[in-house]
Amino acid sequence: MANDNNLLIPADYVYIFSPPGQLGQLDAIVQQAKALQASAEAQNKLIMTLQTQISLPKAQNVTYTAENVALDKHTNWFLPTQPQQRPCFVCHYYGHRFENCPNIHSNAYNRCIRCWKHEHTLQNCQLPKEQIVRPPFKNNFLYPNELLNHVF
Ligand SMILES: [Zn+2]
Ligand SMILES: [Zn+2]
Repeated sequence: MANDNNLLIPADYVYIFSPPGQLGQLDAIVQQAKALQASAEAQNKLIMTLQTQISLPKAQNVTYTAENVALDKHTNWFLPTQPQQRPCFVCHYYGHRFENCPNIHSNAYNRCIRCWKHEHTLQNCQLPKEQIVRPPFKNNFLYPNELLNHVF
């Protein structure tokens, strides 16, 4: 691939146009790239095609607050939403209440929200005041500040 470095168009882009099963045919790909490089019209066509092709996967360019939990303007957001002006006190995101927090496992919904154990409520919790138990967040959960540091 070393002599691909001087191609104007990255080889990765050219792969998109190669029919499946021909990816091994490097020569053909290089020829294709060189032809594109030689023709402004072909390059414009390539760019337009790439833009339409890329616009579909772009929908997957979602930010997640936890595994399979998308950042969502309405239900899971890092700024106040209507009608949720206060953050979920478990995960600190806005748009939902802790009773249906999408960032914790749903089997935690009926647990004590201080120690996250079953069979008692916050009022009867025996956990010493100075102790803090991390809520049972889904995998890869990031608090809003962690997410913002992570993304920007
Ligand atoms: Zn929450
Ligand atoms: Zn408890």
